[in-house]
Amino acid sequence: MALIKCKECGKDVSEHAATCPHCGVTVNAQANQQHAQVPDYQQQYAAQQQAVQQQIAAQQKASNKSTMKFMLFGSLFSIISSLISSIIYRRR
Ligand SMILES: [Zn+2]
Repeated sequence: MALIKCKECGKDVSEHAATCPHCGVTVNAQANQQHAQVPDYQQQYAAQQQAVQQQIAAQQKASNKSTMKFMLFGSLFSIISSLISSIIYRRR
């Protein structure tokens, strides 16, 4: 972490700090701007949206799997029932 000199009080300030901790003057306009452009609540909202989308994707994957199982059981059932009916037909 590099240090820069405060232009107001001349003390060492972290380059990542937006304001001087000694006198409170704005020392890093870029850091200040970045902070202003992306407020915490927007980041939280974006993270929540991402989590919801991931949940939906996971649910869709799970439902796809259950649909596949259902189709597999359905085709198995139709094969078995046709076999049973053919056996019954032959016995008559
Ligand atoms: Zn200062």
